[in-house]
Amino acid sequence: MTTIGILGGGQLGRMLAMAAARLGMRAHVLDPGEAPVASEVAAFTRASWDDAESVAAFAKACSVVTYEFENVPAAALDAVEPWAPVRPGRRALEVSQDRIHEKAFLEGIGLRVAPYMAVDDPDALARAVAALGMPAILKTRRLGYDGRGQARIDAPDDLPVVEAPSVLEGVVPFEREVSVIAARGLDGSVVAYDPGENVHEGGILRRTTVPAAIPPALRQDAVLIAGRILNALDYVGVIGVELFVGRDGLVVNEIAPRVHNSGHWTEAACVVDQFEQHVRAVAGWPLGDGRRHSDAVMENLIGEIPLSLDPAAKVHLYGKSPRPGRKLGHVTRLGGRA
Ligand code: AMP
Repeated sequence: MTTIGILGGGQLGRMLAMAAARLGMRAHVLDPGEAPVASEVAAFTRASWDDAESVAAFAKACSVVTYEFENVPAAALDAVEPWAPVRPGRRALEVSQDRIHEKAFLEGIGLRVAPYMAVDDPDALARAVAALGMPAILKTRRLGYDGRGQARIDAPDDLPVVEAPSVLEGVVPFEREVSVIAARGLDGSVVAYDPGENVHEGGILRRTTVPAAIPPALRQDAVLIAGRILNALDYVGVIGVELFVGRDGLVVNEIAPRVHNSGHWTEAACVVDQFEQHVRAVAGWPLGDGRRHSDAVMENLIGEIPLSLDPAAKVHLYGKSPRPGRKLGHVTRLGGRA
C-alpha cells in the first residue's frame, strides 16, 4: 500500500492525511508535538527534527515524504532522503525558507517582487529606509508566518530593533491581494485553480473569495506566473503563490511550497481539491481536474468557533483547542460574494 509521509502534524497535514485515506493510501505523520491534530487521523511518529534515527525509521515506512510547512529543518530532510523521495524537492524549500533567496529566485525568472534590501544591523536598516523610502515593512528572512516577525515602518524615528537577519520591503500600494493554488505532476503537467481574492487582518488570512474581482487577463497572468514558478523549480505537488494586484500588474509577495490556507475553498467548489491534488502529485498519479464548479467564499475561524454555524456552509474544524489568533477551522459558502 502506498504510504504518504507527512512532515508536520498541523491542520494542513491532517487534511492531506484525510485526502490520502480517501484515495486508498496510508498517511504517516512525523511531528515533535505530543498530540498534533493530524495524529488523530494518521499513523504518527513523535520525534524531533534532528533525531536522525527516528526520522530515518519513519522514512523507511513511507513510499514518498511530503511536508505541510516550509520551515522543515535541513537535518530532517537529510535523514529522509536516503530512504524516500521528498516531494516537492529541496530546491522549493531552500527558496521559500529565506525571503532574500525567494525574491532573488523570482526576479531571476522575470517576475516582479516588492523593492527590497537585506538588513542585518541597525546601520543597514537606516540605509535601507533611506534608499527604499517609507512606508516599508521589516521582515525576518526566515521563520516568519501569519504576519509574525514583521514590523511596519512609517516614520524614521520609529525604526524597530533588528533582531535577526531581515529584509526591508517597500510597501506595494496594492488594490487587492490574490493567490493562485497550482499543482505540477511528476510528468511535468500543470493544473491551476482559479485565483482567489484574499483579505488579511493582522497579517492572518481572514477570507478568500473566488472568483477574484480582477479582469480575465490578470487572472490568466496569475495562473501563468504560478506555472512559471512550478516549472523553474521542477516542482512536484501543490504550491500557493500570493500576489499583490498593483497599479501596473501583478507583484509576487511570497510562495508557499505546500497546500495553502487560501486554497481551502477548493474542498467545496472543485471536484478535486488541493489536498487530493497534492497527494495525487506526490504519489505520481495523474493530476485531477482543478476546475471550479461554483463561486465560493471561505472564512477562517480564528480564536473561537461560533456557537451557530450556517447549516448551508461546508464546515471543516481541525480539532484544536481555542486560543486567541489560532486557526481553528474554516467554513466555505458556495455562490455569491461575502
Ligand atoms: P507575508 O507574511 O509576507 O505574506 O505578509 C502578510 C501580509 O502583510 C500580506 O498578505 C500583506 O497584506 C501585507 N504585506 C506584506 N508585505 C507587503 C508589502 N511589501 N507591501 C504591502 N503589503 C504587504
